[in-house]
Amino acid sequence: MPDLNDKVALITGAASGIGRESALLFAEQGARVLCVDIDQDGAEQTVRMIQDAGGQAAACRADVSRAADAEAMIAAAEQTFGRLNVLFNNAGIMHSDDGTSQDTPEDIWDLTMNINLKGVFLGCRYGIPALRRSGGGSIINTASFVAHLGAATAQIAYTASKGGVLAMTRELAVIHARENIRVNALCPGPLRTELLMKFLDTEEKRQRRLVHIPMGRFGEAKEMAQAALFLASDASSYMTGSEFLVDGGITAAYVTPE
Ligand code: NAD
Repeated sequence: MPDLNDKVALITGAASGIGRESALLFAEQGARVLCVDIDQDGAEQTVRMIQDAGGQAAACRADVSRAADAEAMIAAAEQTFGRLNVLFNNAGIMHSDDGTSQDTPEDIWDLTMNINLKGVFLGCRYGIPALRRSGGGSIINTASFVAHLGAATAQIAYTASKGGVLAMTRELAVIHARENIRVNALCPGPLRTELLMKFLDTEEKRQRRLVHIPMGRFGEAKEMAQAALFLASDASSYMTGSEFLVDGGITAAYVTPE
């Protein structure tokens, strides 16, 4: 198991799903974790779960789409734990009014872009100087399998935002490679978390999605946390600019088994 001993990690979206499971696993593997979320109660609950298990963590409320909040969360990591080694830009939304280019309201497009794409940009804008101060580090940006595949169940703003995350990740990786800063994208497949289950809110919709997954099941947030741990740790020391797909085979499939 890769370890994160002596590392300080900041995780956004840490009140729920992938972010919470990653916070728990990172702390279990020795990291001190700043749990960031717009949902302060949820972030504090994650911190209590970590502390109950004997780990070290602190909570920080931030809206990742706001520059002042992004700057403050990075400052909080350095003030609380002395440095920053791992930045996991994971917070994201999938809005129920996100649809096709014909019916997605403009404000939903803007909201989705601001959180999912600009949020990653702002995390990097303020996080990279902190990583430099600690001699380098690992950035993980959560994209999605939809950055690779189009779906007829449209969510045009979400899909475009995740494509942007992937493209931005590559460029960040190239620019900062000689500073010992690695930047990789995590591309989860469809997961059994709040975010997707709210969108696929009937058995029929869930079955329609499952048909495309060779493994025949939704992924678990815990399985993404394992992948994020690998990207965060020195075990992935020669990886940068990658699109780490953890998707039950969905992007490999043309036709799936019955
Ligand atoms: P989730 O809804 O369980 O967790 C997302 C967290 O982000 C929540 O705690 C929420 O409060 C927080 N958040 C939302 N807006 C925020 C903001 N402006 N500032 C700070 N925090 C904010 O969802 P999840 O499934 O754990 O998703 C995590 C990431 O994984 C997202 O980027 C999502 O797009 C991506 N993803 C999810 C799936 C899936 O099937 N669930 C698939 C691919 C990618």
